[in-house]
Parts: sequence; structure tokens; C-alpha cells
Amino acid sequence: MSYKMATRCIYGEKKQSSLDKTGAISFPIYQTATFEHPAVGQSTGFDYSRLQNPTRENVEKIVASLEGGIDALAFSSGMAAITTLMELFHPGDHIVTDLDLYGGAIRLFDHISEKNGLTFSHIPFHEENVEDYINEHTKAIYLETPTNPMMNVIDIRAVSEIAKRHGLLLIVDNTFLTPYFQRPLELGADIVVHSGTKFLGGHNDTLAGFLVTGSEEISEKFRFLIKTVGSGLAPFDSWLITRGIKTLPLRMEKAQENAQAIVEFLLSQKKVSKVYYPGIKGSAGYETCRKQASGFGSMVTFEVESRELALHILKETKLIPFAESLGGTETLITYPTTQTHADVPEEIRIRNGVTDRVLRLSAGIEDKEDLIEDLKQALESFEG
Ligand SMILES: *Cc1c(COP(=O)(O)O)cnc(C)c1O
Repeated sequence: MSYKMATRCIYGEKKQSSLDKTGAISFPIYQTATFEHPAVGQSTGFDYSRLQNPTRENVEKIVASLEGGIDALAFSSGMAAITTLMELFHPGDHIVTDLDLYGGAIRLFDHISEKNGLTFSHIPFHEENVEDYINEHTKAIYLETPTNPMMNVIDIRAVSEIAKRHGLLLIVDNTFLTPYFQRPLELGADIVVHSGTKFLGGHNDTLAGFLVTGSEEISEKFRFLIKTVGSGLAPFDSWLITRGIKTLPLRMEKAQENAQAIVEFLLSQKKVSKVYYPGIKGSAGYETCRKQASGFGSMVTFEVESRELALHILKETKLIPFAESLGGTETLITYPTTQTHADVPEEIRIRNGVTDRVLRLSAGIEDKEDLIEDLKQALESFEG
């Protein structure tokens, strides 16, 4: 019988005896670049840390287990993972992506991948039929759900059926909900992407990224790429992510509870014109999110009545830092227009609803009354 999610966050698929070596309960940091060979043609299983390192392998096994994949690879950042992923494709290949994506992914696709001969169609998946944009060169569909920052929910199973019909890879960035709430491989995705910097690490203290797959063939290609391009996660950072994942269930639940309290507060404020959160009953993404995930997460996007008020909130919150990133113990607030989505062409940004009145908040695990009090004083001190 396999372990349940919270146990796998600590032990992975199967608890290994700690008594094999020293009895250490915490998996050791193998801070070594290279490994001794017993003889020519023999290996301990480790040769050189660019290829694999025991501490990295440990976190990879845990993430593979959580996502229900056969393999997970740990990279030095989410962008290192996505950059390596793009090496699966060849000049001339076409990828259909959602219009609302992490800004860094759009920057990579439009500036680096296009230069290397790939082409992209960025379309709003929640409004348009993905199938209309598939052509003879299309090789993959790439999406996030809920999307960043507009919190649109995409039906993973529905898109996976389109992908299968056309023989395309479905790639899902699962950073926002994590395997604790949503497992795209079970819904038909071929590859899951993570910024491990966010909820998996969970403490705003290190960068990491993951690619997870349920396919032997893709896993082999990824293993070749990670050893060749050298973008794997360092031993110490692997250990930090391992430690972060141990408390993933507790943090996800608490952050979600805080987010829901913040959403309720924001909905009651006259100066707040819109709140985007898939857990709002009756909102566009509510039913789909409920169907494919076991939670709504802790990301909240909201629009206030003026740009001046948005800037005032960023300046006046005393507890909540104005900072990029998300998914950590600290609640953070950011301004997508000039921060995370600054490199997204203005036309696309506005079309997505990312106006200069939009703020994005990542709920952390502080006391929710303190968070609401902070937002309240920032809103109330505005005279506009
Ligand atoms: C942050 C983020 C990334 C990029 O990850 P880094 O670890 O910052 O390189 C990719 N996708 C999403 C959804 C993100 O939030």
C-alpha cells in the first residue's frame, strides 16, 4: 500500500531505512562535485554532480511521487527548468500557449526560443478554442492553471483531449496549486513544470525548478539534457527544498485559509472593484477548479478603483512587503504591471486585464487578523 500525500511529502514513495548508514533522520547534504569509482566500468550510481547527486536525487524522488510521475528533475530555478524543457523542440516547431502566463516564461518564449526558431501562439485559453490554433508544425500546448496573475482556470482534462487528438505534448505549470491540491499528470498532462522557489520550497529563501513526467521516453530526454546543459539544482538547495516540502500540506492549508479571509475582506471594500480568486462561488473558474483540484490555493489578484490607490497600498502596507515571488511563509504583494509582467507586451497585458489598478497577493501563513488589519489601514489611509 502506498503512503498518503502528507507522508510522501516527508518520505517519498517508500521510507528508506535511516539505519543503513548513520541513522541520520534528515537526509544529508552531499556537498561533493565528484565521486570515486570502485573500478573501471563500475559506479556507485553517482559519477559527477552535474549528472546526479544523492541530495538532488532525494528531492527529485519526493517530487515525482507527489505529482504521480515516474521521474522528476530538479533545476537551479523554475526558468532553468523551462529553458531546458524548450530543448525538446526543434527549429520550425510551434507551441500554443495561454496568453496569461508567468512573465518570465513569455520573455523566454518570445526572445530566446523564437530566436532559436520556435514559434508560439499566445491565446486566451478560457475564451478561445485551442484547437483552432493548432497547425501542422504544432508540437505542444503549454498552460498554467490558475493563471498568473488573472487566476483564470483552464480545464486540464479538456485540453489534454485536444492534445491527444493531435499527438501533442501537454505541458502544465503547476506552481500555483502544487501537487497537494492538483495533479496534472492524472488529468492527462505529459509534463509538469514547477517553480520550486514558490510553494515547494515555501520559505522565500532559495530558487529551484522541476520538470516531472510520466513518460520513460521524455524522462530519458530530460536526463540527457540536464547532464548536458548543466542546469541541475545544487546539493544545499536540494536539501532546502526537501525540508520545505515536509511542511507543504500544513502551509498550503493555512495559506489558503488566510487567502479566503483576505478575499472576504476585499469583497467587502468599496475601493476594491474586482477580486480574482477561483474559490469565489459563482466565479468563472469555480466549478472547473473544484472538479480538477482539491483546493483553490492562496493567490489572490484584485483591482482597486485607481492607479494611485494601487501605488498607495504598495507603499503603505507595514507588515506585507511589496515584493515579487509567491508561495512562501511571508505574505507578499506585487504590482504585475511593472514587476512580474513588465516584459509582457502592453497590448497582451491589457487584453489579459492586467491593468495598472491590479495587485497580486500571495497569502502566507501569518495570523490572518494581522494581514487584514494591514490591508485595511492601507486602504483607509488613502484620500483620493
Ligand atoms: C516564479 C514562476 C516561474 C519561474 O520560476 P523561478 O524559480 O523564479 O525561475 C515559473 N512559473 C510560475 C507560475 C512562477 O510563478
